[in-house]
Amino acid sequence: MKRSIKSVLRPAVALAISLGFLSFSSHTVSAQTAVNATLLQAGYYRMQIGDFEVIALSDGTIPQELPKLLTNTRPGEINKLLTADYLPTTVETSVNAYLIKADGKLILVDAGTAGNYGPTLGHLTNSLAAVGYKPEQIDAVLITHAHIDHTGGLMNGDKMTFPNATIYLSKPEVDFWFTEKSKAASSEALKPYFAYAEATVGPYLKVGKVKAFGYDEELFPGIKPIAAAGHTPGHTFYAIESKGQKMVFWGDIMHAAAVQLTDPSVTIVYDVDAKAAAATRKKAFADAVKNGYWIASDHLSFPGIGHLKADGTKYEWVSANYSTYVSVQ
Ligand SMILES: [Zn+2]
Repeated sequence: MKRSIKSVLRPAVALAISLGFLSFSSHTVSAQTAVNATLLQAGYYRMQIGDFEVIALSDGTIPQELPKLLTNTRPGEINKLLTADYLPTTVETSVNAYLIKADGKLILVDAGTAGNYGPTLGHLTNSLAAVGYKPEQIDAVLITHAHIDHTGGLMNGDKMTFPNATIYLSKPEVDFWFTEKSKAASSEALKPYFAYAEATVGPYLKVGKVKAFGYDEELFPGIKPIAAAGHTPGHTFYAIESKGQKMVFWGDIMHAAAVQLTDPSVTIVYDVDAKAAAATRKKAFADAVKNGYWIASDHLSFPGIGHLKADGTKYEWVSANYSTYVSVQ
């Protein structure tokens, strides 16, 4: 008998707890009780990239106990870097998605978590409503990778959250998560993630609403995918370019800015191939500094939009200067 989506997703939470993903420290428990159906913050931030309007949308935040999650670190390194950035060891981590308004189309980059991680997350559709849109209006969802904090929001219980959208996922990502051969060859630790991918992307696949793209094609005018494998085998950046301005959506290239900007070699337990993830991060950091484009990053402190600059041997995040000058289309 086929398991319901709910019963497939429940182990996701159990696994997350075992990874420390939901281990609330006492001060975050009080923060959690203060949050219920809506975010306490605005949950959106608009800006213009040439002819595109980009709106950062908050799905909420979740505490991440970084010393238990980060890997390939030196003794004392994590605590030292977190302290230097005035952060506790359990960091309230943002989960962001982005809406691109492109020539009459509404394109979402990643889909948040829905109800899979408790009340501090799952606010994406509220944030979308706050800027005046319903999920039914979304034309396309560009998924950076098929982890549940990026695909969970594709489903609302057993219903598609975005019934009129085509879901874009790179071909290597589709091949990895949705072929029996790949699943059979994966480690035991990775097997539950196949179930989450199936539960969240599977319903769209079944009805032919997933487009598995290659990297040599433009998905929409001015919107291109960039291969960024490591965190997952088909992990993908999306670049938008218009009138000399460019923004790259980074997905999960960085989970702990306070640590990984200083030491990009540091990886995280969620990386499928940690070595490749670190190599991709280093390449992405160097390219962002060299070319000076805008970056939008799913787990950087909301809105997760800014630039990267080099500071000697380390990197520095320059958050977007707050602006109210937006020409809303
Ligand atoms: Zn993520």
